[in-house]
Amino acid sequence: MRVTVIGCAGSFPGPDSPASSYLVQAEGFNLLLDIGNGAIGSLQRFHPLYDIDAICISHLHADHCLDLCGYWVARTYRPGGPAPVIPVYGPDDTARRMAKAYDLPEEPGMTGTFDFRPLERGPMTVGPFQITTALMPHPIEAFAFRIEHGGKVLAYSGDTGVSDALVEHARDADLFLCEASFLEGDNPPALHLTAREAADHAARARARRLVLTHLVPWNDADASLAEAKGGTYDGPIELAHVGAVYEL
Ligand SMILES: [Zn+2]
Ligand SMILES: [Zn+2]
Repeated sequence: MRVTVIGCAGSFPGPDSPASSYLVQAEGFNLLLDIGNGAIGSLQRFHPLYDIDAICISHLHADHCLDLCGYWVARTYRPGGPAPVIPVYGPDDTARRMAKAYDLPEEPGMTGTFDFRPLERGPMTVGPFQITTALMPHPIEAFAFRIEHGGKVLAYSGDTGVSDALVEHARDADLFLCEASFLEGDNPPALHLTAREAADHAARARARRLVLTHLVPWNDADASLAEAKGGTYDGPIELAHVGAVYEL
């Protein structure tokens, strides 16, 4: 399994990164995990625009889903004919919300281009991947992902506050992509993690490698990394950056 960071800025794009998006590949199958604002521009630096086989959306905040609008245009009006319909897995309301985002009639909305499917709570098979999701504490329905292939495990937090379920979801993961939106301070509950909390979750989960992501542009990312390294996790920690590739 190969993971490429397409976008890792939290909440809104920064000068060096779009919002959340990750390309997960195995056996020739290309899965896009989140498609936040700016993602499809960055995607074209690393991968052919149309060569995506499925999309998974963690939740319906703009910084995780909104570039589905631009991607709908790209696939629907491609010169030479529309690109093949691909599945989009997301929260139950994804099809309606995306239609509203582009001001399309709800029927058919984007369904001529995307086959919207609800994220299943139990294990589901997407291409060569086994994917399980877990609900995270966040102001709207938000999922973490555990993606398994060839005995390797990628865990992705999506957006979340402190969560025992996230620890279980990331158990023994080879790579843990964990959000680190906040610096230590007086942060609201059930919204986001600090970098220190991300590292503590990684320690409890015994994840083998931690990559801090969803880095909010108004923070100093080096301060986030320092706070994470001051925690209880003794494995490798690094900051996500656009174009980073991880081979699992
Ligand atoms: Zn977010
Ligand atoms: Zn969110």
